[in-house]
Amino acid sequence: MKKKILQVVSRPGRYGMVGDGFRVFNYFPGMISDRKLVSPFLMLDFNPAYDFGPSEQPRGVDVHPHKGFETVTIAYQGSVAHHDSSGNSGVIHPGDVQWMTAGAGILHKEYHETNFSKAGGPFEMVQLWVNLPKKDKLTPPKYQALEAAKMNKITLPENGGYVNIIAGELNGKAGSAITFTPINVYDVKLNANGSMEFDTPEKHNTFILVINGKVEVNGEAADTHQFVIFKNEGESISIKAQTDSVLLVLSGEPIDEPIAQYGPFVMNTQEELQEAFQEYQSGKFGVLN
Ligand code: MN
Repeated sequence: MKKKILQVVSRPGRYGMVGDGFRVFNYFPGMISDRKLVSPFLMLDFNPAYDFGPSEQPRGVDVHPHKGFETVTIAYQGSVAHHDSSGNSGVIHPGDVQWMTAGAGILHKEYHETNFSKAGGPFEMVQLWVNLPKKDKLTPPKYQALEAAKMNKITLPENGGYVNIIAGELNGKAGSAITFTPINVYDVKLNANGSMEFDTPEKHNTFILVINGKVEVNGEAADTHQFVIFKNEGESISIKAQTDSVLLVLSGEPIDEPIAQYGPFVMNTQEELQEAFQEYQSGKFGVLN
């Protein structure tokens, strides 16, 4: 059965700055405050293409903590560098993904990559926060660098485009990221008149962000920067592109557990939040300069 659409919403009116390098529009929890409706996802920030101009000092966010969930950064244009207190670091370029499991607690910093900073040019990215179930909140921190060129891919028929399967599975093909709960994340590039069809389980919360382009999703129009929110009714999704289009498809099985959040810490109880804060204050998340 065709998956029903709850709403197609437009980009939020205002952006916010994350540090001085990420000019983001918050799709949720900003526009969807009921966390059950987006679970297992916690947050979606989108930095549409923006040229910050050349800079000798890379823009970004300095050292900060995370605990109890995962941060997923998808680069569409420009390059992002990452360093964390577990000793992991990496640079992602367009199409690449950083999948960082904060788990038991980590410090990291996120910057425009040095050469990209010096040159300037359009910067376009998404940051997604994915919750961890209670049993995995204290998993050791981990970093997965998922390169576009090595990502599992499906080529669409009739020159329709292609899909990089960042996580989960698509039409029987597995995605690249290792996840803790069932999640699908697709980087979809459709050519004008290209189309694709797939299923996501009825109980998965499912969304499509139109990064660029103009598409029809299950018969409804969705334009650049619009966000398609599905109901938990039906499975099948059919997308047809009117123009060359880039889409981020998200679906995930809800985690039916309480959420206690204070900024970059996402736990299940207030007590655990206090503990996280004390651990951070006392240096238990390690050292990062
Ligand atoms: Mn961060």
